[in-house]
Amino acid sequence: VNEAELRAYEDRVRHQAAPDLRAVLDNLNQALTVVYTAVAGNTRTPLPPAAAETIRRQFAAALDRLREQTDYGRIRRGLRDAARHAITEGARGVDHDVQVSPVTPLDVRWALKGLTAGLRADLADAARLVRTGKIERYSDLTSMATVARRAANRLDRASTWIVHRAHNEGVKRAAEKLASQGDRVAMLWVAEANACATCTGYAGAVAPVGEPFTPVMAVGDASGRPTGPVWTPPVHVNCRCSIEPFFGPTKLRPGDRPLRLRREAQRAVAAGQVQASEPAKARAADRLVSLADELLLTKTTKRRARRRARS
Ligand SMILES: [Zn+2]
Repeated sequence: VNEAELRAYEDRVRHQAAPDLRAVLDNLNQALTVVYTAVAGNTRTPLPPAAAETIRRQFAAALDRLREQTDYGRIRRGLRDAARHAITEGARGVDHDVQVSPVTPLDVRWALKGLTAGLRADLADAARLVRTGKIERYSDLTSMATVARRAANRLDRASTWIVHRAHNEGVKRAAEKLASQGDRVAMLWVAEANACATCTGYAGAVAPVGEPFTPVMAVGDASGRPTGPVWTPPVHVNCRCSIEPFFGPTKLRPGDRPLRLRREAQRAVAAGQVQASEPAKARAADRLVSLADELLLTKTTKRRARRRARS
């Protein structure tokens, strides 16, 4: 399964699992725009104060209703089922015949638990802002709608993270099952295209079954490094790195996939093709240069990394 297919699968699963809060909020925004233009004539003219108060009441009431009537239990159940499905799919991708437990891992359960409180808080914050903020112009209304949309962003972020995490968990469980049956198998880290510097450092890392991943090259800033053992990606919000089984030898030979992924990652850091600010890219390149001998950097990569480190 390639990265694009995996993303399409995950998007499909999470759309089925979670209601489209974004569409609800967009509809609300549209309805408010209709009211605004009906009263003010167009979106460039300020509102008369009385009309502004009416819109304020309607907007706040709609956000309160949304907060009270959203079926959080259904969201949680939908995402939990999606996670179970993703675990099974992840395992099937490794080996069609291997059966793994679909029980959701602890961190997924924590994420589901925190989601309800987070969504409620987002919608409450937005309603509070609508009740107290200045409403004169159309732009005041759109900035309030942006705050309300944080709930939709949170739901998107959480469901992406949960489904992606679960899919990787499925791969990990399948590898564990195969290893317990005597197969020689390890787990291989595949960084997403344009990953952050920390994740790029894990690209091509091989973790024996039952052991956490350790980075191949610690080129990311300390502040971005995961704390505690890393069993599977995602390691941060929006991390789309994945793992795959590696059936190759413990002693890697030139041309093996882990080594190719590592070389690709070295080139990405040297070329500044990591998700980071320009200064962070330079720091990553600088760390790469200091690891040059250990990582057996090619001359070209080393030269590029030096140049980027100085930039
Ligand atoms: Zn990542």
